[in-house]
Amino acid sequence: MRLVSIFIKGFKSFAYPTKIDISKGITAIVGPNGSGKSNIVDAIRWVFGEQSMKTIRADNREDVIFAGSEKNPPANSAVVKLTFEDERGLITIGREITRDGLSQYSINDKPSRLRDIKEIFQGTGVGMDIYSIVGQGQVDKVVTASPYELRALIEEAAGTAIYKEKKKQSLAKLSETEANLNRIEDILFELG
Ligand code: ATP
Repeated sequence: MRLVSIFIKGFKSFAYPTKIDISKGITAIVGPNGSGKSNIVDAIRWVFGEQSMKTIRADNREDVIFAGSEKNPPANSAVVKLTFEDERGLITIGREITRDGLSQYSINDKPSRLRDIKEIFQGTGVGMDIYSIVGQGQVDKVVTASPYELRALIEEAAGTAIYKEKKKQSLAKLSETEANLNRIEDILFELG
């Protein structure tokens, strides 16, 4: 999966609709301090469901909505869309929140759940909490990671993490089914 473009509107310092095309090879974003470079990375994390406000440098959910400036009034909503490309074509995932509490994820502009987004990207090496986004200070974290943490990174890179998660989900279903079976046996026993 390759990130091909980022669309940002009303998110943090992005008052105006902004599209950033990421060409093949290396793309560098340069700008003065405080001009919004890190806000772009925050926007990517946010679409992947970042729940920790600290990670995206905000105090509460509404802090990510453009707060207004001398030239522009505050925005009512924050929208971020990421378009990825793989051998099957293009896919766009998005997230939007409004000041009055609406919150929606989308896949190809159709409302969807964060779970569906996570499922699409699991095992692709793209997403949150994995090596595709290396924030300031995180290189240290990899260098000092425990063998267990390193193994999780390698599993994600090798694409086997998805099977681990599926195994976990299947085992949970199995134990739920076993519990139901036990209940049915009890009822049958009581009925004689
Ligand atoms: P540096 O080079 O210093 O790391 P940077 O280019 O990465 O800076 P960011 O940290 O991305 O800059 O941007 C910080 C700017 O974003 C600040 O000027 C801050 O006021 C602005 N900002 C953050 N949240 C909002 C918001 N909700 N509304 C308007 N502006 C915001």
